[in-house]
Amino acid sequence: MGNNYGELVQRQRDFFLQGKTKDVQFRIDTLELLRKIIQTNEAELMKALKEDLNKSEFDAYLTEIGIVLEEIKFTLKHLRNWAKPRRVKSSMATLGSKSYIYPEPYGIALVISPWNYPFQLAIAPLVGAIAAGNCAILKPSELTPRTSEVLQELVSKNFPEEYIAVVEGGVEASTALLNEKFDYIFFTGSVAVGKVIMEAAAKTLTPVTLELGGKSPCIVHEDANLKLAAKRIAWGKFTNAGQTCVAPDYLYVHTHIKEKFLLVLKETILELYGEDVIKSGQFTKIVSEKHFNRLVSFLSNGNSLFGGKHDLSKLTIEPTIIENIKWEDAVMKEEIFGPILPVMEYDDLKEVVSEINKRPKPLALYLFSENEMTQKKVLNDISFGGGCINDTVYHLSSPYLPFGGVGESGIGAYHGKGSFEVFSHEKSILKQTTKFDLPFRYPTMKNGLKFI
Ligand code: NAD
Repeated sequence: MGNNYGELVQRQRDFFLQGKTKDVQFRIDTLELLRKIIQTNEAELMKALKEDLNKSEFDAYLTEIGIVLEEIKFTLKHLRNWAKPRRVKSSMATLGSKSYIYPEPYGIALVISPWNYPFQLAIAPLVGAIAAGNCAILKPSELTPRTSEVLQELVSKNFPEEYIAVVEGGVEASTALLNEKFDYIFFTGSVAVGKVIMEAAAKTLTPVTLELGGKSPCIVHEDANLKLAAKRIAWGKFTNAGQTCVAPDYLYVHTHIKEKFLLVLKETILELYGEDVIKSGQFTKIVSEKHFNRLVSFLSNGNSLFGGKHDLSKLTIEPTIIENIKWEDAVMKEEIFGPILPVMEYDDLKEVVSEINKRPKPLALYLFSENEMTQKKVLNDISFGGGCINDTVYHLSSPYLPFGGVGESGIGAYHGKGSFEVFSHEKSILKQTTKFDLPFRYPTMKNGLKFI
């Protein structure tokens, strides 16, 4: 393909203008083919995820392949309905007319994805782009090269480049692509790069979805079910070695239960991940040496309560809890994105609300509490992308819950119908009657005559 992206985009545009992708049956056939490709190449995808990130088969299926297959299944079930023009009410001012909303594809979509769920975060947006009738170019991450390569092979073997293409490469490839005119850009990645994407998109007024990151708080209130909280937090934090955009970034634990809770949490981590993840080799690795060193530098913050062992040769850091953490510590200054869980404590929920509200709006927030008033207060007083009460991470698995951030954690949301909507323009159409015409909509001429 070289790096003549202009030519590729033009070929996609020519193909799009043929109108084939607008046919709903064509989209359904494409999604069915995509599902088949994923199913028949599951082993190869798992192997690539193992090589890139040491992901276990269990994690690879649960958090990457399975989630995408579910998304395809849900989309196939509803696509005909979503794609239909919808009749809506007409207003008094348009008496006699009928009003409709026609969803239509934007055209050529660019999807740029990160390395942490390199399969899911490239393919889930693609499902939306296909469902809505677009052509698409995917630019997966250079930090998970095996998965990107498999994606490239599978796509190029099964789809014409003028319909769906994968471009491998890093910043240069992204930058070169961003110089082209797309009709939609869907980006998942860091806040800093999100700004670069939006700036590039502004030059051509291209609409964007930005799925970004940030520090997602997890609050454990004094009335929480501690055992369940520990299990759900430990899994949400340490799955994928904490390299999850919606992982609980840090814990805020009520003073009254802090000691007891941390004890249960430690036991739970041992139950879930065993004594020594470095030896067992079953734990997801940190994506690169640079990321590893950044994470290791946080280990000197506060007091180490659990874990802390790390091995550069295996790029592995064990599940770690650090306590006595303050907002001034380095670990609290940026998104952690690794298996290190800082713990802060509080007396009064008001302090927690006030501290969180001083900072960028989180992508996710988790609250563990049995009390409805407490739940209501937190939901009412803090703005964040989405989250769970008494759970972590799972809000993103529901096709009925649009997933995305707010403020610095992102713009727009997808999953389920949301993915179809993201990649569709809603064209509003008024079909006017010709049976009669209302005179009062026209100006009256000075001599009292009407225009018609
Ligand atoms: P990143 O922003 O470094 O990279 C994401 C993509 O952008 C990659 O494909 C990369 O090649 C490309 N890129 C990097 N620099 C670029 C530049 N200057 N110009 C154009 N493109 C560029 O992010 P990452 O390190 O791959 O992923 C981690 C971040 O992504 C974390 O902040 C995490 O929270 C966030 N994230 C968010 C979600 C979500 O759904 N909201 C999901 C996963 C990850």
